[in-house]
Amino acid sequence: MKKNIALLGSTGSIGVQTLEVIVAYPDLFNIEVLTANNNSALLIEQAKIFKPNTVIIANNHKYHEVNNALADLGIKVYSGAESIEQIVASESIDVILTALVGYSGLKPTISAIKSGKKIALANKETLVVAGDLITKLCAEYKTEIYPVDSEHSAIFQCLVGEGASPIEKIYLTASGGPFRGKKLEELKLITKKQALKHPNWVMGSKITIDSATLMNKGLEVIEAKWLFNLKKEQIEVVVHPQSIIHSAVQFEDGSIKAQMGIPDMKLPIQYALGFPQRLKNNFKRFNFLDYPSLTFEKPDIKTFRNLDLAYRAMDRGGNSACVLNAANEIAVEAFLNDKIGFLNMSDLIDNCLEKITFVKSPTLEDYVETDQQTRILAKKLL
Ligand code: MG
Repeated sequence: MKKNIALLGSTGSIGVQTLEVIVAYPDLFNIEVLTANNNSALLIEQAKIFKPNTVIIANNHKYHEVNNALADLGIKVYSGAESIEQIVASESIDVILTALVGYSGLKPTISAIKSGKKIALANKETLVVAGDLITKLCAEYKTEIYPVDSEHSAIFQCLVGEGASPIEKIYLTASGGPFRGKKLEELKLITKKQALKHPNWVMGSKITIDSATLMNKGLEVIEAKWLFNLKKEQIEVVVHPQSIIHSAVQFEDGSIKAQMGIPDMKLPIQYALGFPQRLKNNFKRFNFLDYPSLTFEKPDIKTFRNLDLAYRAMDRGGNSACVLNAANEIAVEAFLNDKIGFLNMSDLIDNCLEKITFVKSPTLEDYVETDQQTRILAKKLL
């Protein structure tokens, strides 16, 4: 039986790599839905190759362009963010891979959870923004989430076959990004060109900047808390510059299981789509002898303040992580547009965390409101 897949965010880095995985297993996977935010040209090209049932372009202005290009192929074309929320409930879909960037993934993911379908989650911001709401909904609708983020996929893989063996703690590994070892003074003048060069992973621009500031690891700590039901003390970030150990779980008997391999996002994507089966591939293999030393360090949270801010937001709970995420999205965008410096990103986030009204037990409406208020404030503070 083929799995019918809806790929939300098909033109981004994860989306493109997902299609590279899918094309290798035509007997296992079928693309049913493709959605993109703005990149109509690539969406059209993908639709012509994969011939999905439905295509959605979020940007309404691009509807005619996409529809004209695909009408003869019998592909249904819709536009608008609401269409994405509606399509995920379609009966013909088995697995929804959410590769939307940032906060935009929240509402479609909630619709996907309510549909009870399996979710391969690449959009970590959804769990960061509203982790308590998302986990409650998953329990209510009995929805399974398979993490696509490489660290969380690693932890998930370590937990397979462990039944109810309690986790003592997890080690979330971090490459440290391109500026590992640098001091505050040196970070002041970092340019976006330098920040966009990641040593180990090929990724989109938002996550690459987040990796350079260590915010990505901060978001991943919060993501791990919700995915694996962990307390703050159970999550330890370890800098591991070679990115071979993708993360590890320590059980109550002190035994540690780690998942390793050459860094390649296609592996966690493939694992999430194929679960519980491991699929044969010809990706490059890791050889221990090529890496005589794998090294580990403590993260420098005094220099890379974003990781500290993320821990604080997680600790405080309520809508704090939602504020953190929204302020960070504005900060990264401003940095990419040369409006603020590298270090100003943390100042902006810190400022928003101080000023936005705290809500202890937010509803979905509260999260939406918090996100909007934070964006308005952050833009004012720029
Ligand atoms: Mg990751």
